[in-house]
Amino acid sequence: MSTDLSKGEHTFKVLLYYMFVPIDDPAMLATEQHDLCSELGLRGRILTSKEGINGTVSGPNDACDAYVAHMHADPRFASMVFKVDPANDHVFRKLFVRVKDELVTFRAADAPPVWECTGQHLSPEEWLEMMQRDDVVILDGRTGYEFDIGHFRGAIRPDVDSFREFPEWIENHLGEDKERPILTYCTGGIRCEKLSGWMLKAGFKNVYQLDGGIVSYGKDPNVLGAKWDGKCYVFDERIAVDINHTDDRKVVGRCHHCGAPTETYRNCINVECNLQHLVCPECEQRMEGACSISCQTAPRRHAPQHPHPYHSSATPTT
Ligand SMILES: [Zn+2]
Ligand SMILES: [Zn+2]
Repeated sequence: MSTDLSKGEHTFKVLLYYMFVPIDDPAMLATEQHDLCSELGLRGRILTSKEGINGTVSGPNDACDAYVAHMHADPRFASMVFKVDPANDHVFRKLFVRVKDELVTFRAADAPPVWECTGQHLSPEEWLEMMQRDDVVILDGRTGYEFDIGHFRGAIRPDVDSFREFPEWIENHLGEDKERPILTYCTGGIRCEKLSGWMLKAGFKNVYQLDGGIVSYGKDPNVLGAKWDGKCYVFDERIAVDINHTDDRKVVGRCHHCGAPTETYRNCINVECNLQHLVCPECEQRMEGACSISCQTAPRRHAPQHPHPYHSSATPTT
């Protein structure tokens, strides 16, 4: 749902945060988090692990502020950075708190703990300057479908469907030249903490990461999201948010059916397929929300989705 948040009072917030820090008892932390968020009326997804915490929650302003204060009072999370988006309502339907082996599933046996080894952090200003050098590789640390609706200008699209496919893809595509500076970026920064650390361990000499990820880059008053094209895919009901608030911005998403520019992702109406695909308003109507002719006549279909929220302008929604 695209809502104009550029004016008016916002009564809700969305918080995005992570911290890599040794946690002795991730199950106990998960229970505490569940109780705290239930009490405050927050919804969203929180993961705990022996390597730290990763969460994104939505809730009324007061509840979000109370959550941040509570977390900062815990010595383990005293320096945790919260990225904050204004909202008019919850962007999650429920609260999920889970214990995981890893905060982001990487499963690279040779990946070092993030607090021991990770790429050098670049501020948004440093990133903008560095990405315009012609000797650097800009590596998108996300999956293909996230790249397709928006990415940094000149970035490489890794052909991977999940994060754990990265080590193999990198060895095959970038392994030849380990001297060349690599700039990695992802949504909120957490994936690059691991990815850049693994790359250093794998022998890449100059590995950098965008501090705070794309989301922080889009909020930075000095860069205003410059050189970002399209939108940033997010894992909640908003689907994608605006990043580039300059006049120099392109739509890069292309309709799955006809190739026309679009920034709308839809799940295929066929319940068995459910393919998330970019679609333009005309094709969505013509195909009745299906990703293919065969899906159009599938026996089990989702109820029609809400009206097409197509926006071609660069109106900030974050
Ligand atoms: Zn189309
Ligand atoms: Zn389909």
